[in-house]
Order: sequence, then structure tokens, then C-alpha cells
Amino acid sequence: MDALDGKMVDVGVGSSSTSSKPDMMKLKNAIHRSLQKVGPGAQYMLKEEKASFAQCWQRFAHVCHTDGTLVKEFHSGYVACTKCHAVYAYEMRHGTSSLNGHRCRLVAADAGAMRLFATTVQPSTSQKRQVARAVAMMCCEDLGPFSIVEDPGFRRYSQVILDIGINVGRGMKVDDLIPSRFTVKRQVMGNVESLRDVVKAKLKEHFADKMHAGFTVDLWTDSIKRTSFMSITIHYIDNAFKLHVRTLQVQPLHDESHTAVRVLKAFKECLQDFGSDENERCVVCSDSGSNMCGGEGIRSNFK
Ligand SMILES: [Zn+2]
Repeated sequence: MDALDGKMVDVGVGSSSTSSKPDMMKLKNAIHRSLQKVGPGAQYMLKEEKASFAQCWQRFAHVCHTDGTLVKEFHSGYVACTKCHAVYAYEMRHGTSSLNGHRCRLVAADAGAMRLFATTVQPSTSQKRQVARAVAMMCCEDLGPFSIVEDPGFRRYSQVILDIGINVGRGMKVDDLIPSRFTVKRQVMGNVESLRDVVKAKLKEHFADKMHAGFTVDLWTDSIKRTSFMSITIHYIDNAFKLHVRTLQVQPLHDESHTAVRVLKAFKECLQDFGSDENERCVVCSDSGSNMCGGEGIRSNFK
């Protein structure tokens, strides 16, 4: 299952005839509805293009059946926008111009991007200096790292603020706009399940490809409330040799003593939760604490 390209070239020459157009529309709608669902019951899933660095493959992925085979109907393959799940018929020999023309409604809604594209200007030297001064003061006052300016999250957040400013076109007080910490927490909690589903789907796909993964397991106790926590992080390299690192869970280990057996159980539960119980393809890295290395612990089941 290497390059998806290999499978793309043998598409039949007679592309979608006019008589099959309505059926193709029906199929596209069914794919779109299924992709909107995610999780159990979904009939189709997306598989990222791994062999190409072309711009459009940052935003589009190939539509597959749940067993991982590419959908091929009406003499065509299909791709979908990974954000809004708009579905396009796609054949490699026709190129990617229709994909490049996709104006994603979600990106547009997120950031007023349509308007932005049309009105972008270069900031002046004095505006840049003003921002540099403000960021420097922020780092000093809030004791933040200077590298915050390189953080993708901070940059996206700043863009959202800028775009809102453009759309409003008038002054606005930041105190009226920025949410409270409680709102931020609610927002995170609201996103947890759907984001976990996304990670689950990615890992399922990874393990379905018969790939290996490394895990880092760590335990620590906070010094004030004496609550013990266990974190599990997965590291894996995909078909395109890109390294992925994801923290799968940080869970308190409530009042049970965290013995080797208990730790192993928690680890296995996490793996099952994320759709992998293939011990032989999971390698665990941990410190040499007795709750990790003991005869009945993680080392007894995993490399
Ligand atoms: Zn889109």
C-alpha cells in the first residue's frame, strides 16, 4: 500500500458519461453524508495522499471504503476536502485544477478568508515594529517564551483576531471579545470527543497498514494534592516517512496503588480505546521504575 499514485493510473478512459451523472451525484452526496458522521456507522473514510507534496493534497484526501480500498465508481476515483468534506470526482490524468479552485466554506466561515484574499496588504514597517514591541512586552509581562511567535496556534489565533477586525471595520475592545478561562475550558471539553474520533481514525488506518508504533508511558504525582497521573504518548512514522507524535491520554490513577499490573491494565485499555490491541507492533519506552519493569508489568507484554 505505498503510493496511491500507482492505483490511480489504471482509471478507465471513458470518463463519466452523461447518463451516469445523476448516479454520480447521488454517490457524492452519500460519501459527503458519511464523512460528516465519522466513527461507527460511517461507510467511507479519507486516506491522505502520501506520495505528493502538491499544495492541494494539504487540503484533500482520497475517499476509501472502510477496508481501505479506494472508491472507484462510474470510471472515476473520488477525493474530499478534509475540512468541509466537499466531494469531487478525481482522476489523476485530469490534474488538480478543480481541487485548487475549491473555496472551502469552513475556511471562509472560520476566518473571513474570502474577503481576506481579496484585500490582503503588506504591513508597514512601523506596524511591524508596533507588533514586535507589543509581543516583546507580552513575553516579559506574562513570562511567556519568545518562541510563542513561532507557535502555529498563536499565529492562527492572531489571524482570527485580525480577520474579525477586517470584517467589522470599526474599533472593538479586546475585553469584550476575548473569552473567560471557563469558556475556553468548555470549548476544549466540547471538542474532546470529536477530536479523539479523528485521532482514532488516523491510528486505525496506521495499524491497518501493518505499521509499528512506539509509546512513551510516564507516571507522576502532583506535589500538592498527591494525585497520580499516567500519560501515554504515541510516536509513529507514516508511509511518507513523516513522524507523528500524539498524546493519547493523561489520566489520574485514582486511589488504586499504581502497581505494575494496574499500569499495564490502564495501558491496554488505552490501546483498545484507540483501536489497537496488536501487542507485537507496539514498542514501549519508559523509565525503569518497578511499576513499569516488574514481571507482571508492561515489559511482560510489550517490547
Ligand atoms: Zn472545504
